[in-house]
Amino acid sequence: MKWRAAVHNSKYFGNRLGGMTLKVSVDQDLCIACGTCIDLCPGVFDWDDEGLSHVIVEEVPEDAEDCTRESIESCPTDAIKEI
Ligand code: SF4
Repeated sequence: MKWRAAVHNSKYFGNRLGGMTLKVSVDQDLCIACGTCIDLCPGVFDWDDEGLSHVIVEEVPEDAEDCTRESIESCPTDAIKEI
């Protein structure tokens, strides 16, 4: 049954009312610590101990999807990727 859970939770099939689950990551080699993503979406991004942005949720909450996508588009170095 484990494979069923994996398929059910995958980004290809979604897990909420047929919606897609959004997951993102920050490439810290590209992050220049401008703070845009953290300003736009503080529930998803935060500073780490090295002063760079990182993702603080495994899956983006539905009510934070818009600000997450805005962060992806606004990041000046394209450091944020949907995974
Ligand atoms: S918007 Fe991009 S460059 Fe700026 S803090 Fe976020 S990940 Fe780093």
